[in-house]
Amino acid sequence: MLNVIIFGKPGSGKGTQAAMIKDKYGLIHISTGDVFRKNTSEGTELGNLAKQYMSKGELVPDKITIAMLESEIKSFMPCNGFILDGFPRTILQAESLDKLLVNLNLKIDLVIALDVPNKNLINRLLERGKTSGRADDQSKEKINKRLEEYDNKTKPLIIFYENQKKFYSIDGVGSLTDINIRLVDIIDSKCND
Ligand code: AMP
Repeated sequence: MLNVIIFGKPGSGKGTQAAMIKDKYGLIHISTGDVFRKNTSEGTELGNLAKQYMSKGELVPDKITIAMLESEIKSFMPCNGFILDGFPRTILQAESLDKLLVNLNLKIDLVIALDVPNKNLINRLLERGKTSGRADDQSKEKINKRLEEYDNKTKPLIIFYENQKKFYSIDGVGSLTDINIRLVDIIDSKCND
């Protein structure tokens, strides 16, 4: 079993790389953003609630997000492992995840961050916004709000996972293949420890 968190700022390429890693290692890819968007498009209660925050570039409250993630993880058990993309994004989410995994006799093996400078991120997100249809990719203001949420609430997770000796960071600028090779190198070196 291999459980990996793919970490990084909005637009750092987490979703794209998670999809590539998922196939290589036979993992279940859980993107909390994708689950929220699916619910939003289906007009579920969860989706309507999440939309109020997502459309402004704010994080969805922890209570809602943690409950959703727990039910996603449980729904895929048993499996070879998970790649979590976009979760956790707060210390409370990370602590809740650790508790959930202990109860399931599982643990996070690795947290790998994709490091991309803000100026590249803003351009990437505005470019993606032309085709993604995502309200939160459409304006610099919303993108800046998402980056601010990252700095205030998500960045402290770096120290949280460094303390657990699980945190790695790779250069997230370059071709998809090059970035993927950097990720795979870390996963393989840790798996063979
Ligand atoms: P993403 O697709 O990962 O960029 O997420 C899009 C949006 O979904 C975020 O800006 C948040 O509004 C919401 N979201 C996704 N994951 C989380 C999370 N772990 N905690 C809170 N909000 C989240």
